[in-house]
Amino acid sequence: MSAPHPADTVARLRATFRTGRTKPAAWRTEQLRRLRAMLTEQDAALVAALHADLGKSEYEARRTEIDFTVREIDHTLEHLDAWLRPEPAPVPAHLGGATAWTQYDPLGVVLVIAPWNYPAQLLLSPMVGALAAGNAVVAKPSELAPATSAALARLLPQYLDTEAVAVVEGGIPETTALLVERFDHIFYTGNAAVGRIIMTAAAKHLTPVTLELGGKSPVFVDRGTDIAAVAARLAAGKFLNAGQTCVAPDYVLTDPETARALEPALARAVEELYGTDPAASGTYGRIVNERHFDRLAALLDSGRVVTGGGHDRAAKYIAPTVLADVTPDAPVMQEEIFGPILPIVTVDGLDEAVAFVNDREKPLALYAFTESEATRERLASETSSGGLGFGLPLAHLTVSDLPFGGVGESGMGSYHGRYSLETFSHRKAVLRKDLA
Ligand code: NAD
Repeated sequence: MSAPHPADTVARLRATFRTGRTKPAAWRTEQLRRLRAMLTEQDAALVAALHADLGKSEYEARRTEIDFTVREIDHTLEHLDAWLRPEPAPVPAHLGGATAWTQYDPLGVVLVIAPWNYPAQLLLSPMVGALAAGNAVVAKPSELAPATSAALARLLPQYLDTEAVAVVEGGIPETTALLVERFDHIFYTGNAAVGRIIMTAAAKHLTPVTLELGGKSPVFVDRGTDIAAVAARLAAGKFLNAGQTCVAPDYVLTDPETARALEPALARAVEELYGTDPAASGTYGRIVNERHFDRLAALLDSGRVVTGGGHDRAAKYIAPTVLADVTPDAPVMQEEIFGPILPIVTVDGLDEAVAFVNDREKPLALYAFTESEATRERLASETSSGGLGFGLPLAHLTVSDLPFGGVGESGMGSYHGRYSLETFSHRKAVLRKDLA
């Protein structure tokens, strides 16, 4: 049976939306509960798919994809009624006797396009917001995580309202065909080159977009920090999912003396995480495909290898690698690494680090390890990034009450928790003045 034409899928979902079926809070919460049931009842199938696509360990699959999304659902279910309550607005004196308020309206039929690196979480977590806001949803998983894409295409229709939710699998041709259609919002996660394609297609219909992109997220390590503790947290954040995390620490900026102390500490931290042979650890992931493996392997000689460097194309394995003496013009510093390679670039100190960050595109995240309040304040006020993490990489995106998103080249718009509801709703202004 051939896949339905995208125009027919969108028309079918739009017809459902027009009936008003997706608007009541009861429909929204029911969909969220069913999605939660899918995640808990079908977790074994999802864990297996994530392992097939990315060599994800069961622990990592649960923590970063399944449990993460369950938490997002629980948070939304807990607060949705309160979030949806109309918010009164004060009226000016010349409108005496009138009342005014805002209310959240669903947008209509929205498109969610996901990437391969957290292929379940990054499709389902935006869907939580889209459904909570009362929309019909077309979900497009990544073809580069084919097992997860197939599992989600099979499972989602078993749990969710198929009149209002459709999964469209496929790669560039299928997505290109989808983008011809008119949506009421497009939520895209992936790289900035495709982000531009999405935005161009959306512009034809004046469709608003959320672009969750990437970039090189720097880590500043200050003098006088507890180097062993820094190395442990840095390595854990960097090498999770073999470095294929949008907010992974991309490179380290530090002074030469701290760099010298950090080198052996990072080597020890890697060994503590994955043993002397990470390939055999069972908890260390693999590179998604040969194309990315080749891209990453070519970056391995961008500096002096402190630890790692080993690789095996047949197994799509690249060891957790730390590179020292890396210069700003080295190949590894020209693009988002998106893999298990951590370059250390030396700077004089904070001034040069701030200038280094500001000379480049705005990153999705900026991290700093420092004991100094003044340094924290300067980084917060003098740099721009999607998110800012002091002392712990990645963790800000697990706080449901924080908006998650980029700025500039790292994206536009945000989501998670209440911010997802705002992204997938129209905040309508309402004024009422009675005649008598
Ligand atoms: P990808 O190749 O899976 O692409 C993402 C989606 O875009 C897929 O669904 C794919 O089918 C679609 N796509 C690809 N080419 C297309 C085209 N020409 N036209 C229309 N659609 C197309 O994933 P990727 O882009 O390699 O993902 C990695 C990037 O995503 C990195 O830059 C990473 O930092 C970023 N990322 C960002 C976030 C975030 O939340 N901000 C999360 C994960 C990844």
